[in-house]
Amino acid sequence: MSSLTSVSSAEVTGTDERFPVRRIYCIGRNYLAHIKEMGNDERKPPFFFQKPPDALVPTGGEFPYPPQSDNVHHEIELVIAIAKGGKDIAVEDALDHVYGYSLGLDMTRRDQQNKAKAEGKPWEAAKGFDHSAPIAPIRPVSEIGHPDSGRIWLAVNGEIRQDSDLNLQIWNVQEGISHLSKLYNVMPGDLIFTGTPDGVGPVNPGNVMTGGIDGIGEIIISVV
Ligand code: MN
Repeated sequence: MSSLTSVSSAEVTGTDERFPVRRIYCIGRNYLAHIKEMGNDERKPPFFFQKPPDALVPTGGEFPYPPQSDNVHHEIELVIAIAKGGKDIAVEDALDHVYGYSLGLDMTRRDQQNKAKAEGKPWEAAKGFDHSAPIAPIRPVSEIGHPDSGRIWLAVNGEIRQDSDLNLQIWNVQEGISHLSKLYNVMPGDLIFTGTPDGVGPVNPGNVMTGGIDGIGEIIISVV
């Protein structure tokens, strides 16, 4: 064992410094077309779940197909990196708390999620499993500002599966941070996966997932 105090972290574009990750929050249901494809109610407020920080996988890495599932889905998402903590953050102040942006994959055991939903059980095993959070390098706000539009896409073996735009998010970055901070004391080092557009679907060992968000970056992950 190398260390009892290991800290998960993410790459930052253009620097050797890394972003130490405290928690990974994820927003459920943030694009209308995805809510409809999953048969859910679009009028409900956003909700949140977490993944463990050590579930991060850097771009260029491998996603080992997880056990106890036959239906593992890709979900490409904008990721917010938090620099400044707070609670009950007002929508108009929320952008002041952002360090930068990235894109990530909210990998999901869809069969386990559907079973959990049907039985009224937690999503933990469906969402928070090992290697379930591949992520691209973070781009600081000082470089790219606060993108509120731009193509978000994901391809499997070069075939486009998800193709949408950040401007189709139901809850924007400010609203997402504000909602989250009513439930939790948001802290520096928190990442927020902001929900996926429509087109989610299964991957299999041997597949290569590539994805991107215009102005933020790209990710490539091999399913093994
Ligand atoms: Mn998701």
